[in-house]
Amino acid sequence: MPIPTRQQTQRPQWLIGLVIMTVVGLGYFAGAWLGVTQTISPDGQAIIWPPNAVALAALLLLPVHRWAWIIPAVMAAEIIADIPAFPLWAAVSFGLVNLFEVFLAASLVRWFTGPRFDFDSLARGGYFLLFGPLLAAGTAALLGAGVYRGLAGEEAEYLAHWQMWWFGDALGLLLLTPLVVIFARQWREMLHAWTRWRLLEASALLLLLGVMGMVLMATAGVEDGGHPLSLVLLLPLVLWAAARFGVPGAAALVALVTATAIARTLYGAWPLHGEDPNGAILALQEFLAVTATVGIGVGLLLHEIEAQRMRLHLFERTMESTNDAVIITDARRRDDPIIWVNDTFETLFGYSRDEVIGRNCRLLQHGEEDQDGVRKARDALRLKQPVKTLVRNYRRDGQPLWIQLSLAPVGDSRGRVTHFVGVLHDLTELKHLEEKLERRVAERTEALQEANRRLERIAATDPLTGVANRRQFMRQAKRELARAQRNGTTLSLICLDLDHFKAINDVHGHQVGDQVLTQVASTMEQNLRPSDLLARMGGEEFQVLLPDSDIRQAGEVAERIRATLHELEIRLCDTVVKVTVSVGCAQMGLDGSDMDSLMRIGDQRLYEAKSLGRDRVVTGTADGVHAI
Ligand code: GH3
Ligand code: MG
Ligand code: MG
Repeated sequence: MPIPTRQQTQRPQWLIGLVIMTVVGLGYFAGAWLGVTQTISPDGQAIIWPPNAVALAALLLLPVHRWAWIIPAVMAAEIIADIPAFPLWAAVSFGLVNLFEVFLAASLVRWFTGPRFDFDSLARGGYFLLFGPLLAAGTAALLGAGVYRGLAGEEAEYLAHWQMWWFGDALGLLLLTPLVVIFARQWREMLHAWTRWRLLEASALLLLLGVMGMVLMATAGVEDGGHPLSLVLLLPLVLWAAARFGVPGAAALVALVTATAIARTLYGAWPLHGEDPNGAILALQEFLAVTATVGIGVGLLLHEIEAQRMRLHLFERTMESTNDAVIITDARRRDDPIIWVNDTFETLFGYSRDEVIGRNCRLLQHGEEDQDGVRKARDALRLKQPVKTLVRNYRRDGQPLWIQLSLAPVGDSRGRVTHFVGVLHDLTELKHLEEKLERRVAERTEALQEANRRLERIAATDPLTGVANRRQFMRQAKRELARAQRNGTTLSLICLDLDHFKAINDVHGHQVGDQVLTQVASTMEQNLRPSDLLARMGGEEFQVLLPDSDIRQAGEVAERIRATLHELEIRLCDTVVKVTVSVGCAQMGLDGSDMDSLMRIGDQRLYEAKSLGRDRVVTGTADGVHAI
């Protein structure tokens, strides 16, 4: 099943247009009928001309693309209303003048106030007053008076007709357009705002208006023995309505007061000022214009004040309920004193409002003003610029806090900075976490480095004897060789191999052999300098690297080792094991300049020692091989 799109569900444009045309046409006709029959003075003057108010309200409420529908509605209603009294050309002319008036007013008001017009601010009310009743009605009256002159010929007073047309139209617009617009725009809010008490109050207000209307009627015709009461007495009721029921209340009451006042003038008091009915009508028009302007004006003013109060309340609540501390300082007073802080500030810093108001924010620094963040904030204050910075503040009890401070200047309408708003976001917890994390990372790094060192040690050590292994020996020997060459010094190498070690293994077992190897290594080490390097090269073969030693010194060390081992009695469990060692020595320079050569020569001499009967040292000298 196809889903109906928005386009399909919309009503056709022409139908909407017809509805607009019918409603506005009927409203316009009703207004014209009311104006002609109910407000015309005995000499044919309309006190108030309501139909234009209906048309203008429609233009202010409708979107511009629907404005065209107003034209046929106004023309038709005008002609039907006028035909009994005026020729067709005059009726058409009146219609055109009225259309000119309302289109001019609506265009100007819309131009200055935006697409969605409502009586919701003093400025919009002011634009309406200026462009509607004053400008458009006054201009249209110039044309209307011309039509009257065409009707009546030279006798008609142009200025009198202009004034009559203007005042009648202006009053109509002033009294009725706000009423229609406000009720069309705000009926939902109005329904929503009703309570039993407000209903009661409204009834009381209406009752009072009724009573006062009747009293005014009753006293209006008094000629002897009494003074007619003034319509001005109704003004307080309008103000009451404006104060308690807002702009809609004021507009509604202005309409009722208008009805009362016109009724009183026409039926109760006619002719009011005896010889001068025109003067009486003018006075009535003045009164109604002032009542409407003041009533709706006060309503708008109160509405605006209330709206501002609500905004202020809203912002204050927002500031109060935020999780950050907020401070406002006065930039116009010396030393930027604090003038407001929120609840969060009190909890975060432990100061009460009274303790900080009037003081400078540096109170939070506890004297620690030499901070980058504080300097940045101070510069921003001086240049009256916004800033975001990290500062260290202190609670009242001295506990430090890390605060992310956002400072923003607030300017007045002339652009001068009057206040600073500071939002203080507490980062202390985060900072602690960060420090903890950093500590943990440092600990982990240290552990890792230790593990690496251990691994390196293991990789460099012979697991059985604990002395260096071949890898480590070769690495270090290379380094020492290079160093000796660089420094022009020498070094020597001792190669050792235990004699008949296989026999020890065979007699005592492999395990004992291992223990013997361990003891031999430690005995060798005891006969060396710390700078000498002993390594187990594999099996029961050892090497010693002797930095800064020549072959003679190497021979001495080798002999010492040999002799010590020869004497050594290795006691293991219940047996005593004896070992001897054969040794060959070589010296850098004499026997070669790289490690391979030295080791080859050392090994050769070692095997020479073996072949000479073992348990001896063979060193090389310039004049040949010597066994010690
Ligand atoms: P020579 O005097 O000719 O050196 O005789 P030798 O028995 O010591 O012969 P050679 O050096 O060739 O033999 C090494 C022997 O050392 C072989 C092996 O049984 C023993 N051996 C090698 N490595 C180990 C070890 O780690 N532990 C033990 N217990 N014995 C080992
Ligand atoms: Mg061997
Ligand atoms: Mg051996």
